[in-house]
Amino acid sequence: MSDEDLLTARLTALAAQEQRLLAQLDRVVAASEQSNADDEHDPEGATIAWERQQLAAVLDQVRRSRAALEEAVAARARGEATTCERCGATIDPRRLEARPEARTCIDCARSVARRR
Ligand SMILES: [Zn+2]
Repeated sequence: MSDEDLLTARLTALAAQEQRLLAQLDRVVAASEQSNADDEHDPEGATIAWERQQLAAVLDQVRRSRAALEEAVAARARGEATTCERCGATIDPRRLEARPEARTCIDCARSVARRR
């Protein structure tokens, strides 16, 4: 698999994950409308509210990863390899696949982590 294919495959997987989460969120919202979610004292309502919060948080994370990955794919398409903002080295696509929001190469990330 080429670097681009790797990133595109990851992007497709994230988009699918986002769709699944949205469907899940829809079901939770529908369930909360059926139960007496207005009643604060309804334990079911509290559980659903919590579940909604969790799903929304995960969804937000997936969307951020997807945006970062899209940016990386677009940069590559423009012929700008994603380079480390610290040392200018090309960031390993495998690193971008795992952490699309990465702006530094693995070596710099390690040395930063060590100094903390
Ligand atoms: Zn670097």
